[in-house]
Amino acid sequence: MKIRNRITLWITGAGLLAGLLFSIVISYEMIEQPYELLDGELDSQAHTLLAGFTTQANTLVPQADRAMLDSLGRLYWLKIYNKHHQVVFASSLTQYTDLPLKQKYGGYNVSATIPREAASLEQDDSNDLTFRVRIFSIPIGGEEYLVQIARPMEKLQEEIYDLIISIAVGLVLFAVALIVFGYFAAGRILRPIADINILAKEISEKTLDKRIPLGNNQDELYALSSSLNQMFDRLQYSFQRQKEFIANASHELKTPIAMQRLFFSEVVQRSDLPDDLTGRLFTQSEIVLRMDRLVKNLLELSTLELKETFTPTQVDLAQMLSMILNQFEEIMQASGIHLKVEIEEPVFVHGDEDNLRRMFINLIDNAVKYNSRDKRKIRVSLVKKNKEAKIIIYNTGIGIAPEEQDRIFDQFYRVEKSRASTSGGSGLGLTIVKRIVELHHGRIKLEGEFGSWVEFYIFLPVMES
Ligand code: ADP
Repeated sequence: MKIRNRITLWITGAGLLAGLLFSIVISYEMIEQPYELLDGELDSQAHTLLAGFTTQANTLVPQADRAMLDSLGRLYWLKIYNKHHQVVFASSLTQYTDLPLKQKYGGYNVSATIPREAASLEQDDSNDLTFRVRIFSIPIGGEEYLVQIARPMEKLQEEIYDLIISIAVGLVLFAVALIVFGYFAAGRILRPIADINILAKEISEKTLDKRIPLGNNQDELYALSSSLNQMFDRLQYSFQRQKEFIANASHELKTPIAMQRLFFSEVVQRSDLPDDLTGRLFTQSEIVLRMDRLVKNLLELSTLELKETFTPTQVDLAQMLSMILNQFEEIMQASGIHLKVEIEEPVFVHGDEDNLRRMFINLIDNAVKYNSRDKRKIRVSLVKKNKEAKIIIYNTGIGIAPEEQDRIFDQFYRVEKSRASTSGGSGLGLTIVKRIVELHHGRIKLEGEFGSWVEFYIFLPVMES
């Protein structure tokens, strides 16, 4: 279960428990109070009624005001018992129902049925009634009498029922409000964690300079964010050191390899060498040439990673691409490649000229290198579309298998070792291309049909005119 849902559940649970306890206390008070009032009313009415009696020869005799006795008698169920538990007075209501005489002082409820036609006492359709009964003893003329007085309490019961329903509905609404509130509160509490999560996903080797915003609250999340930021600092430092190391190592290797290359190119020219030695020297010179290319590519990539040589200016891609294609014309002709160019002029971007040139050279060089043996074609197009320069470089050839297409931009990745070694590749050309595209905030992708053709797409943001 998600933490957000768990917090919501806790908030709802705690709130609901508090609400439930509160409702129980309130409803108890609210239900008790009307009973107390009703009991008080019964007591006072009983006393009023009893005031209308006198004792004569050990019996109760109603006094002159019979009308009052009769009208109260229709509203209140009343029985007065003498000490032998004989009924000495019964109000008119007692003829319809008998209520049990519980030897229990105080109040109790009793259900009874009195047809509506007999006496209209707030009955519902079923003629059922609930009576509130009070029992107490009272001295009249020196004798103790037991008084049992009762009255229907349908209205009160309905009100109590309504009250319970209202409290239940209130509790349900309260629970819904708590869930909504809890969900939003949990979202707010967890928002810094969501921020940390988004940033942690964003941060990669290329964006190690990003940091989690700390905010003002010096709470646990602040501590977590600053620990993560410190970890990113350390990571960034070690990546930087690693890049610097590769840059320094390739820089140091560059000169001795160049000298070796020079040496071999001079030596293989000599005519006084034995044939077998010339062959071996030629192979060695090829190896040194490959080493030279590899070290240069490594140096190029590491300087790109360190962003040391990135100096942006206004560059016309159309002009640059045309010039590069001119330079390749001779080699394409020699290889029997048919070139088709579709360039829309001019297309300006804000970028580093040397790097952009390097990017095009790498891609066109690959299009030549990995072309097919027959029906050789290269198509280069450049158009401006949706504030982007769209460059397509297409070549026939054996192409790149779909499962290789994602890995093609990885360092030292070559589709086929033999293919790459015969072409003298280092497996860094496309890594450099991708890095240059990224430094220009662009995108690169490829499409193709394995065994037939491949097409590289580059999108670079153009300069606003
Ligand atoms: P390399 O220096 O080996 O050419 P790249 O990074 O430029 O390294 O290319 C990686 C691999 O991708 C190459 O070894 C090659 O197999 C494949 N590749 C690159 N460009 C093309 C292309 N235009 N047509 C077919 N295969 C290509």
